[in-house]
Amino acid sequence: MADMQHSAVAPAENLRPEDFAPLTQHAAQQGSEADRPALGYWQDAWLRFKKDKIAMLALAVIVCLVLVAIFGPILSSVSYADQDLAQANQAPSMAHWFGTDNLGRDLFIRVLYGARISLSIGHQLTETLRLHKSMTKQEAEAKAVEMLGLVGIPFPEKRLKDYPHQFSGGMRQRVMIAMALACNPKVIICDEPISALDVSIQAQVVNLLSRLQKELGLTYLFIAHDLAMVRYISQRVAVMYLGKIVEVAATEELYNHPFHPYTQALLSAIPVPDPDDQQQRIHLDGELPSPINPPAGCHFCTRCPYATDKCRTEEPAMQTFGDRQCACHYVDADGFHGKAVQH
Ligand code: SF4
Repeated sequence: MADMQHSAVAPAENLRPEDFAPLTQHAAQQGSEADRPALGYWQDAWLRFKKDKIAMLALAVIVCLVLVAIFGPILSSVSYADQDLAQANQAPSMAHWFGTDNLGRDLFIRVLYGARISLSIGHQLTETLRLHKSMTKQEAEAKAVEMLGLVGIPFPEKRLKDYPHQFSGGMRQRVMIAMALACNPKVIICDEPISALDVSIQAQVVNLLSRLQKELGLTYLFIAHDLAMVRYISQRVAVMYLGKIVEVAATEELYNHPFHPYTQALLSAIPVPDPDDQQQRIHLDGELPSPINPPAGCHFCTRCPYATDKCRTEEPAMQTFGDRQCACHYVDADGFHGKAVQH
């Protein structure tokens, strides 16, 4: 050890000018850097950015994507809206790089236009489970298959890899229900769950919801405009006008004996499939006011056939009659007793 130290440090009397050359060069280099003009903020940022290989790679990818997005649709002979039912649900090919959807539309062009960006239903289902239930990929896939089976999707293992456009409207709705049920909720908010479906599919979905409610002990907050369907699925109904609840009652009580004039008008509009049943329709005049700027007093006063001066100045409080509630000046425990007014 003593020998090594002795050989590494030369005695001062043995030092020669050329021994100082590396130090002199370093000092010169430092000096030249210090003499450089100061860089601006963006120049400095760009120099730092250029040194970061990952950042440069990400920039190249983004530039490529932007170029493809701009020039891809221009170069293509197919429009994102072109339909060809004979080409429906085609696998990827030279003619259709990403395949086609159920209307025969080219998926590549639709992706470029941002008109179709889809994840497989398996991905959507398992992502929910992995995030909220901390499941492994295998556990989440097994649970997703179980949920699809529960809502009646045939061959759930195979369908897991399919995209939403490969399902019918009713099946898509079932997948959404499976997604809602995946994390074992107690309450599900169903906001217009059947409005986009044709009547036969509506019946399927509502029957499925009813079955699951009994099997799993669920509570639904079912929001809908279809009053016949609301009567079928609900135990208790709240009627809203202009963003406020105006009446709440058990379903059969409300449908057989509506208190509030708005509820009466709504129920009179339900079509009855019997040509001999000449029910009296209550017509409401005028436009629906803006919920942002509702009328003074009772919000229904501009269209209510029974509105009085009191209605136009005083907002009715929600009153309770047994297990039902109603917000109208002219309602008591026996029901509505206002008189029609000639406007
Ligand atoms: S308070 Fe007046 S305007 Fe409002 S629902 Fe009752 S009768 Fe009609």
